[in-house]
Amino acid sequence: MTEAKFSSLPLSKEMLHNLDELGYKAMTAVQEQSLPHVLNGFDVLAQAKTGSGKTAAFGIGLLHKLNVKKFRVQSLVLCPTRELADQVAKELRRLARATHNVKILTICGGVAFGPQYGSLLHGAHIIVGTPGRILKHLDKGYMSLKDLEILVLDEADRMLDMGFKDELDQVIAHAPEVRQTLLFSATFPDRIKELSSTIQKEDAVSVAAISEEPPNEITEYFYHMTSDDKIACLKKVVAHHAPQNALVFCNTKIESQDIADKLVSSDIDALALHGDLEQYERNDVLLRFMNSSCSVLVATDVAARGIDIEDLALVVNYDIPPNYQTYIHRIGRTGRAGKAGVAVTLYLDLDIRLMEQYRNESRIFDKIDSLSNVDNFTLKAPNSTLVIEGGKKDKMRPGDILGALTGEAGIPVKYIGKIDLYDRQSYVAIDRSMINKAYTQLKKRKIKGRRFPVWMLGQKKPADMSNVWEKSRLVR
Ligand code: ADP
Ligand code: MG
Repeated sequence: MTEAKFSSLPLSKEMLHNLDELGYKAMTAVQEQSLPHVLNGFDVLAQAKTGSGKTAAFGIGLLHKLNVKKFRVQSLVLCPTRELADQVAKELRRLARATHNVKILTICGGVAFGPQYGSLLHGAHIIVGTPGRILKHLDKGYMSLKDLEILVLDEADRMLDMGFKDELDQVIAHAPEVRQTLLFSATFPDRIKELSSTIQKEDAVSVAAISEEPPNEITEYFYHMTSDDKIACLKKVVAHHAPQNALVFCNTKIESQDIADKLVSSDIDALALHGDLEQYERNDVLLRFMNSSCSVLVATDVAARGIDIEDLALVVNYDIPPNYQTYIHRIGRTGRAGKAGVAVTLYLDLDIRLMEQYRNESRIFDKIDSLSNVDNFTLKAPNSTLVIEGGKKDKMRPGDILGALTGEAGIPVKYIGKIDLYDRQSYVAIDRSMINKAYTQLKKRKIKGRRFPVWMLGQKKPADMSNVWEKSRLVR
């Protein structure tokens, strides 16, 4: 975080107030360096690492320039993956709370095409999505960039890595030549400079917020395991550090499931995230972790790619990372935005030499046996998640769900956590102590004049739910 206040920028009172409400007290380095130029209409080429606040660095610019009365696509944000696009859209919606009626639409591959066409017909101000699917809509004439003012390429290096170059070029060919182009990238290889020179203006401002950035606040521990019972060591670590939540990295899918199962059998709420999960299962796992219905997520590097978790307390390298870069990447998930984080790496005798490269003054090396045994340790997530079989397509809104739970149903608002709405389902996090009451109340109450089936995520689905329904979850 820098000393620079958002109020030094020519932003509306409402925007400044909203930023304050979001807890954005000062600009991050990349925001401080790029926002003034973005607001002045310059093309910007910015390099900054993950978690440095790039979304707001362009998002505030898009929203500042937006003319809400003109219901046309005025900004397009291209992202490498659906998950990243979802995250960007979420952050933009938070930033847009101060501006009435801003319509932000995500258009990504991997989901049904038809409904997207429908949404596009309704129009949008800002579109966030992946290049391939956006191109498809452009080619079919379902989307127009005629009125586009700002084009953003987020995580441009990864889009190039993933082979999106042709599609990017084709999408950009649909955009007007007179426009503002913002290019964000974590790294700065020659290919990015080349891309910039072909799609950005000559006077594009180049900023690199690398060295200026404060490092994450992470305390790094390395525990030498003298026994081969790694699970016992992991439990010891979790019990010792007693984190609110934790992300555990291991190297294989099978292992991730096995570790999660063993933690659960020791009364530590855990779920595995790996590549064998269906998209909807992956969503469910992530959703439960993000809304505090699960405390420990056990993941492989691949599965955890692109996941940004706010407020992560502990990262554990259950298996040592394959290389130093992966180590930095893994532990960078904690200690974000000035909050203290802890990273623990477990290693065996055979890794001793490999671990030497990690030794420095600030890192703490110790034997796992130095941690005292914590008997009867349990880690229960504060919340549980209820699924309501109705979503955006049923015109369900967070307020409807809140309304059904509070008031006559008698659940105080403070027990209700995050609400996630999808096309056909809604997920609501409820404090564990209130979950049964919430479930019973929701089951017997009408929402929007209808009674929707309700069930608890993580428990067996009711038998009366057909397979057809299972399929519908895949396309949300
Ligand atoms: P990046 O795209 O660079 O990986 P994000 O835009 O996703 O990073 O931001 C990372 C996190 O930091 C998000 O949770 C975001 O809400 C938060 N954040 C962004 N800007 C600020 C700020 N100025 N003050 C506090 N938190 C911020
Ligand atoms: Mg980002």
